[in-house]
Amino acid sequence: MTGITIALSKGRIFDETVPLLAAAGIQPLEDPETSRKLILQTNRTDVRLIIVRASDVPTYVQYGAADMGVAGKDVLNEHGGIGLYQPLDLRIACCRMMVAVRDDFDYESAVRQGARLRVATKYVQTARDHFAAKGVHVDLIKLYGSMELAPLVGLSDAIVDLVSSGSTLKANHLKAVEHIADISSRLVVNQAALKLKYAVIQPMLDAFALAVQK
Ligand code: ATP
Ligand code: MG
Repeated sequence: MTGITIALSKGRIFDETVPLLAAAGIQPLEDPETSRKLILQTNRTDVRLIIVRASDVPTYVQYGAADMGVAGKDVLNEHGGIGLYQPLDLRIACCRMMVAVRDDFDYESAVRQGARLRVATKYVQTARDHFAAKGVHVDLIKLYGSMELAPLVGLSDAIVDLVSSGSTLKANHLKAVEHIADISSRLVVNQAALKLKYAVIQPMLDAFALAVQK
């Protein structure tokens, strides 16, 4: 089958990918916010979209259930990127991976004293790598969302989370104390699909690359 399946998540990634798809001549026939369908047809009979959780995009592409997808660098770092070709930074869904603590917590001095920090996060791999590189000992607590709550109720000293405007941190009396990485979303392509469906995929990659430059 020469058709192409593209994995996207609802929300900001879908919304910010639509203009890039349009540049490649692809228009979704339905809106995932109003449709309950998980497989969306497009104006092109050879291209369909599947709607999955943001953190599941690399998995669908890795196993070839989707030929390509759009995933945040945060998600790709956690996944590890095995079996994925990452040809393009789409420069969408931009934000920063940060360490944050309560307003009244002296992070610098805790680190200086070699205190063992409790860190709550959805991004366990990223957090482990970051603190290991700094030589800071941490106990990681895996969460699936609402990380901002953890320091407020004594679950952790710090969180590792994505920050864009900083208003969520501020609203919860937290402050960002360390920048871990700049995050944006990447195009990911299944390596076997790229070879087998090169004639269809390569022109799409070129169109996306052109649209990103603008
Ligand atoms: P789920 O809702 O399934 O638990 P999620 O919350 O990670 O997953 P989204 O909030 O849609 O899903 O985020 C998708 C991607 O957008 C993230 O992986 C990240 O790369 C990026 N992102 C997350 N938060 C922000 C933000 N505040 N500003 C800009 N980009 C963001
Ligand atoms: Mg979300």
